[in-house]
Amino acid sequence: MKTEKGVNLQATFVILACLTFFLTGMTIYFFSDVAKCYKVLQESTQKYYQAEFYISEFLDATDYLSEQSKFYIVNQDKENLDNYLYELTKKVRRQISVAKLNEITNGDEISSEESPAYEYLMEALFLTDELVDLEIHAMKLVAIANNINLEELVEDLQLYELPQNELTLSKSQKISKARDLIYGEQYQQIRSTAMENQQMAKKLINEFTKDKQNQSFKKLSVAITVLEVFISILVATVFLLILMNQFLLLKPLEKFIDCLKRDYPLPKVKSQEMGYLARTYNRINEIRKENTMFLKEKAERDALTKLFNRQVFQQNATGLANTKTELLLLLLDIDSFKSINDTYGHDTGDKVIIKVANLIRDYLGGDNDTYRIGGDEFVIFIRNKDASYYDIIKKNVEKINSILFEASNGIPESSISVGVAYSSNGYSKELYNNADQALYFTKEHGKCGISFFEENLEEL
Ligand code: GH3
Ligand code: MG
Repeated sequence: MKTEKGVNLQATFVILACLTFFLTGMTIYFFSDVAKCYKVLQESTQKYYQAEFYISEFLDATDYLSEQSKFYIVNQDKENLDNYLYELTKKVRRQISVAKLNEITNGDEISSEESPAYEYLMEALFLTDELVDLEIHAMKLVAIANNINLEELVEDLQLYELPQNELTLSKSQKISKARDLIYGEQYQQIRSTAMENQQMAKKLINEFTKDKQNQSFKKLSVAITVLEVFISILVATVFLLILMNQFLLLKPLEKFIDCLKRDYPLPKVKSQEMGYLARTYNRINEIRKENTMFLKEKAERDALTKLFNRQVFQQNATGLANTKTELLLLLLDIDSFKSINDTYGHDTGDKVIIKVANLIRDYLGGDNDTYRIGGDEFVIFIRNKDASYYDIIKKNVEKINSILFEASNGIPESSISVGVAYSSNGYSKELYNNADQALYFTKEHGKCGISFFEENLEEL
C-alpha cells in the first residue's frame, strides 16, 4: 500500500476533517468576537447620544435659570420665581447632567480629575453656581421689595443673607440693584466664561465618545473581515471535501459497479486505496478466469487429443435434438487398433490416436464439432449440409486414409472406418444408430473406408 501512487484518501480526509473542525472553531470564536464588538459599538453609540443629551440638558438648565431669574426681576411675577426655584432645587438638571456625564465616561481617562473635559465641566458647574448665587441675590432683593412671605420660599432663598446696606434700600432701589446684578458686567462675564467652559467640555466629550465609537467600528470591521475570511476558507474546505468524496470515492465506486456488472476489469483511479482495490480485484479476477477456463477445458476436452469428450458430445447432441437442423453424423473408428497397441506398444498407439484426431479435425469436423467418445472412437457433426455433401466427406476420408497409410516419425501406418447418417431434423438416437450401422458396414466390408446409411444398406 505504501508504494501506491495517487491521492491517499484516508490521510486527505483526516487532514480536511481536522481543518474543518479547526475552521469551525475559529469561525465560532470570531463570530462571538463580532458580537462583542457590535455590543461595544452599540454601547459607545448610546454613550455618544447620552453625552450629547446631558450636555444640552446642562446648557438648557443654565439658560433656563438665567431666563427665569431675568423674567422675575423684570416682571416680578412669582411664577418665574417658583419655576426658578423648582429647577434649582427639585429638577437639579445641572447636577444630574454632570453626574450622568461622569457616569457615561466612567473608567475612561476623560472622567479622571486631571482630564481637561472634567476640569471644564467642573469649572462650568462652579461658574454656573456663581451665576446662581448672583441670581438668588437679585431675586431675594426683588422678593423682599415685593414683600413676599419669606416662609414660602425655599431654604436656599431663605438662608441667603443680603448685605446690611441693601436691606435699607427702597423698593425701587432694590429692584434696580437686582437688575444691575443680573444685567451687570460681572454676571455677563461669568456667564460667558461658564458658556465657554461648557462648550469646551461638550467638544471634548463629543470628540471622546465619537472617537470611542470610531474605534469600536474599526474593531467591528476587522472582526467581520476576519470572520468572512474564515467562513470563506471553511466553505472552500467543505466544498473540497464534497468534491473529493464525489470524484475520489463515489464516481470510482459507480465505475467499479458498472464494470463488475459487465465483467470488465476495474479502471485506473486517482486514489491509492481505490487503486489498490481495483488492481487486487483485477488480479484475482484474472486468476479466477484462468482457473475457470482451465477447469472448463479439463472437464470438456480429452487430455490426449484435446478434442471435446463424450460429455460435451452428449450435451451438444441433446441441444441438436428435435431441431430443424440438417445434420450429418459421422462415426469414426481406428481399424485394428488393438494390434497396433500390441505390436508397437501403448505409447505408439497414443500417437496414432493423436494423428487421427488431428486429421479428422482438420479435414472433417473442425475444432468445435469433433469429439473423442471412446478409446479409438470419434464422432463428428456436420451441420446445415444435406446428403449430397457426403461426396465431399468421402473424398476427405480417402485423403485422411491416404495420409494414415504412410508411416511417419515413428508412427506406424493405420486407417479409419467411417459410418455416416443424415437427418433433416437434428439429432436423435436413431441417427446415431444409423451411423453406427454404416460404420459396422464399413468394418464388415474391408475397413479403411466410408459408408452412408441407407435403409437397404445390409442388402448392398
Ligand atoms: P476394429 O478394427 O474392429 O475396431 O478392431 P480394434 O482392434 O480397433 O478393436 P476396438 O476398436 O474394439 O479396440 C479398441 C482398443 O483401443 C481397445 C483398447 O485397448 C484400445 N485403447 C482404448 N483407449 C486407448 C488409449 O487411450 N490409448 C491406447 N494406446 N489404446 C487404447
Ligand atoms: Mg477400432
